[in-house]
Amino acid sequence: MRAIVYDTVGGPLRLVPVPEPSCPPDGAIISVEATGVCRSDWHAWRGHDPVPLPHVPGHEFAGVVAAVGPEVRSYAIGDRVTSPFVNGCGRCEWCRAGEAQVCPEQTQPGFTHPGSFAERVAVRAADHNLVRLPGAIDSVSAAALGCRFATAFRALTAHGAVTAGQWVAVFGCGGVGLSAVMIAVALGARVVAVDLSPASRARAAELGAEATTWTAAEVVEVTGGGAHVSIDAVGSAGTAAASVRALRRRGRHVQVGLMFGDATQAPVPWNLVVAHELQIAGSHGMAAADYPPMLAMVADGRLRPRLLVGDVVTLEDAGAALTAMDRPVAASAGITVVTL
Ligand SMILES: [Zn+2]
Ligand SMILES: [Zn+2]
Repeated sequence: MRAIVYDTVGGPLRLVPVPEPSCPPDGAIISVEATGVCRSDWHAWRGHDPVPLPHVPGHEFAGVVAAVGPEVRSYAIGDRVTSPFVNGCGRCEWCRAGEAQVCPEQTQPGFTHPGSFAERVAVRAADHNLVRLPGAIDSVSAAALGCRFATAFRALTAHGAVTAGQWVAVFGCGGVGLSAVMIAVALGARVVAVDLSPASRARAAELGAEATTWTAAEVVEVTGGGAHVSIDAVGSAGTAAASVRALRRRGRHVQVGLMFGDATQAPVPWNLVVAHELQIAGSHGMAAADYPPMLAMVADGRLRPRLLVGDVVTLEDAGAALTAMDRPVAASAGITVVTL
């Protein structure tokens, strides 16, 4: 089969023939129809998040089950599926509690083993990690769900506990940030979107953000004292601290953007956390078990992930789409999806 492969950190991304993935006894092989291009893939390629080399990127995909292992009970060849980027083991105490997103034995296609910038990809513990797709959800939309959209959904619902009428600040309007804007608006929240890119701010406004800016001070101003919930969808020392400073008293900060390098030790304004009784949470994707309420909102049109998709490219152009993320400020807004 064909796949995008790189042999060295930051090295050329080449479309080459590779061996077929082998199907684990409890796993499945998915024939990839669409796969998103995500900043996490870029972090791995750039060496911020080490992966085994040579490597095939790609972790947010939709497709059709092409093979299942002998232990799989709930899925069969031909089923249309997607999967969270974190695949739980299905056996540990966290997986049994429905919290596979923090499984200590987790695997991640595109990080721990070859990913979905390929014609086929393996998913372990398929009964636990596959998500059946309703017919109403096309593969390009579904590819946008597995990582950024699901992560934003869980950040706002499970961690942010957002309710109608509350202010939500979203720092960074790339894939996960724009997803957060759309979901927060659908939950009835008022959204202020923060980004340096005029194109990304404009996109956030089209998706229903009531205000856009590039400073935390203006968030406090616009919201009349700060946001009830603020999300750092970038993952940097600056945006994390700005997100905390943008909160109303008793507000909740959710760290969604991954923190690498010096950012792993980034300072938090703890004086505000104590005096204003702020809550700080980290969010790491969403387990397959938590997908049904999100899929229901997609299927009935309250959420429209297809609107978040910017460019749709072929596997031949997937490498170029990944290298384009070297630019700190996005030239075009939205999620790039590769179709096969
Ligand atoms: Zn587990
Ligand atoms: Zn991702």
